Amino acid sequence: MLHLAATATRTATTHSHHLPGLGVLLLLAVLWAVGYLALCWIWPFVNCRRCTGSGKSRALVGRGFRHCPRCDGTGHQLRPGRHVLNHLRSIHHRASK
Ligand SMILES: [Zn+2]
Repeated sequence: MLHLAATATRTATTHSHHLPGLGVLLLLAVLWAVGYLALCWIWPFVNCRRCTGSGKSRALVGRGFRHCPRCDGTGHQLRPGRHVLNHLRSIHHRASK
């Protein structure tokens, strides 16, 4: 009986130790999200993953190429986070009109 009681107390202590850890994790997640959105604001583009920024889709033979269909030959793509920012901004613009 005494052993059981001791175990229960220890579990309760560990449980209460987990709560501040969760708060720190949540804070880190928020900081990461803010930092990521700031990155998307300052550097909205990343190299296109299909053509690695060249804007060209090379032919399998010869020297031919065509515009990369994924980025329309620009070689860059808008970050997903920037899409979110643009969306939020369009909502804000609509609300202020
Ligand atoms: Zn591309």
